[in-house]
Amino acid sequence: MPHFEAGAFVQFVQRKHVKVPRIEPPTPDATSARARLRIPQEDGRACDLCGGREFSLLHEWPVGDRWNPATIPIAVWKCACGLAFLHPVPQPEQLPAKGEWWSQARKQTRRRGGFKEKWRVIRHAITGTGKERLLRDTRKAVPSGRFLDIGCGGGRMLRVAAQSYDVTGLEPSPVAAAMTREKGFKVVEETLEETTLPRGSFDVVMLDSVIEHVVSPRAALQKTHELLAPGGVVVLLTPKFEGPSSRRHGADWNGFRHGYHTHLFTGKTLGRYLEEAGFEVLRKPRRDRMFDDILILWGRKRTPRVE
Ligand SMILES: [Zn+2]
Repeated sequence: MPHFEAGAFVQFVQRKHVKVPRIEPPTPDATSARARLRIPQEDGRACDLCGGREFSLLHEWPVGDRWNPATIPIAVWKCACGLAFLHPVPQPEQLPAKGEWWSQARKQTRRRGGFKEKWRVIRHAITGTGKERLLRDTRKAVPSGRFLDIGCGGGRMLRVAAQSYDVTGLEPSPVAAAMTREKGFKVVEETLEETTLPRGSFDVVMLDSVIEHVVSPRAALQKTHELLAPGGVVVLLTPKFEGPSSRRHGADWNGFRHGYHTHLFTGKTLGRYLEEAGFEVLRKPRRDRMFDDILILWGRKRTPRVE
């Protein structure tokens, strides 16, 4: 009879019945549970849009709140200029471990069944998908040319845009970048902030659900301005702060993506950002109506003035 040591046997059983570890959110420790909310002014923070420091506290989510995924208290503040922003912004280690952000699981958990899904299918059959409509409007501003999609993910936007433009994707996730390259698209594995793409090399730059994630929208728009050729157009799509859904849901509004969205915009604040970064905000196309929950602005790079 083979001789087993107790320890070896336990290890054998453990190997046989190996459990896939569940990814648990980080446990708030006693210190962080009592932690005081950090105040932007005390942290030396100035408004990214106007440079001011006159902020009011809009919503606060303590540690353990059902909307707060972080191990620190988080809050959204509103500047006197109207810009809403997250402070403090949790560090990655203060948020649940997600590993590689791009996964099939993420894709599959989106939009499951129900009336909303059925309505979406009907609507798409009539007016096209959201991306198709976005591109149709963009073609009114720039009918053809070189197109860059920031954060191209699995390449859904590139696939639609390729019907009209010469497309490139920018995607920091190696998994998503590889997946999209396999589909035959050109993908540069960089972030917008650190990209080495040459200046003036695009006619359209798309930021679909990107601007609400960046550390500084001002810096992101300046970089976008550099990437565009004269007369080129930036497309910005983002949740609409103070839209109908934002007003109805208050602190529960999913546009906050609590702990993740760093800035929230109205048509006015996003328009001001575009103007100050050197863009002319187009009146047509433009989606900033009273009943819109998604804000979409198109901005054309101004031709440098001859003094
Ligand atoms: Zn401000």
